[in-house]
Amino acid sequence: MPRDIHLDTGRLANIFKARIKNTGCPFCEHDEWELPLQAGATGVGLPWARGQEYLRFGTPAVMLNCKHCGFVRLHSLNALANIIVQDECKTSVLEVSDE
Ligand SMILES: [Zn+2]
Repeated sequence: MPRDIHLDTGRLANIFKARIKNTGCPFCEHDEWELPLQAGATGVGLPWARGQEYLRFGTPAVMLNCKHCGFVRLHSLNALANIIVQDECKTSVLEVSDE
């Protein structure tokens, strides 16, 4: 994976705003989410399992934490097109079109 790609958090926020209707936490009903993201990371990977073995790669996802109760939610990056962008085109992909 090239080092010059990153998760476009502004575009992610816009897509969530456009597509997600119920933003409250399903457990505590608070609506405060944080995106924990290590420097240089584009998200988390959900490992596949084969029998009793877990592979070190799998579905890429974005993880958000409820700031109130700690509930963790995941969104597949495969369903969120163009969230991972090249640095050089960062300014050209910030616009989000409604679907
Ligand atoms: Zn919560």
